[in-house]
Amino acid sequence: MMSGEQGEFSLSARTDEVAVDSVIWHGEWVQVKVPLPFSLKWVNSYLFPEEEGYTLIDPGLRTDEAIRVWDAVLHKLGLQWTDITRILLTHQHPDHYGLAGYVQQKSGAPVFISRLSHAYAVRLWGGSSDFSEQLQALYGKHGMPSELREAIGENLETFVAMVSPQPKVTYIEAGSSIAIGGMDWLLIDAPGHANGQLCFYEQERGWMLCGDQVLPHITPNVSVVPGEGGDPLEAFLTSLEELKAYEVKLAFPGHRDPFTDFTGRITELQQHHERRLERMVAMLAEEPRTAFGMCEVLFGSRLRENPHNLRFAMSETIAHLVYLERRGRIASAVVDGVHQYAATLL
Ligand SMILES: [Zn+2]
Ligand SMILES: [Zn+2]
Repeated sequence: MMSGEQGEFSLSARTDEVAVDSVIWHGEWVQVKVPLPFSLKWVNSYLFPEEEGYTLIDPGLRTDEAIRVWDAVLHKLGLQWTDITRILLTHQHPDHYGLAGYVQQKSGAPVFISRLSHAYAVRLWGGSSDFSEQLQALYGKHGMPSELREAIGENLETFVAMVSPQPKVTYIEAGSSIAIGGMDWLLIDAPGHANGQLCFYEQERGWMLCGDQVLPHITPNVSVVPGEGGDPLEAFLTSLEELKAYEVKLAFPGHRDPFTDFTGRITELQQHHERRLERMVAMLAEEPRTAFGMCEVLFGSRLRENPHNLRFAMSETIAHLVYLERRGRIASAVVDGVHQYAATLL
């Protein structure tokens, strides 16, 4: 889960102070910290100047506060909404994608996203979605009590307004390249955190726009998503290994601040998952447990009060169990309709 430090993001009352807090000039590009009503505190948007206007990467989650910050930031930069001439999305999660439709309406800019990422957005928020029911059914099979499943369903519904209106999109795909800020960037497929996520790599400078795939101080969430199947943790770990092959001097993450030791951070993330997997096998060697039982031990029962974080924790726990079971380290049996996991004797 996104296990960063806790705390509320607070904004100054005065518009110009909001802008000073939220916008950072880095010479050739601009980092905008768009507030989030979660413990993550903010999502990074990046602005790159083009011959005409600016490319905006990941505009943020649609909240009144985020729009206030954007208005103040544009004012501070001396820009109008129409100076945004292109919107690029690293991936489909609401904290990155949510404002894309709003900014498109204000600016008229095209929105670019991968086909897979967009398919997820349409499936969740395109109307007549049964994603919430599917997720609650999945959690039921993994031992989560019904009142917690219902709280998660209610929490999911609150996201519809935070991703509306839906943008009209144009597809971009891994393997091609795109010009941003006068530079050529390679699009890299980076699944595991979000199916369809793209990283953007600029070889000459060694710059990597890495979305949520590699974050400093925070462990990117890796979730089993109903309807997607597969082995997301395997996809994530494979992607991390692939990303290590790029020479990166500066990484632009979706959360926290740009950082330099990209490969070192990847190694830390790999080790984090190795440790967690071994801990889970050891726990399941002691006694059989459900995914929900494991989740409460790993992340703490206080998450019962926070459906948003509980969802991340639960889906992440299931992702680790899927990974271990596919490798024969653990096995499951269905008892009274609920999956029970135990370590296998190797
Ligand atoms: Zn994400
Ligand atoms: Zn994010």
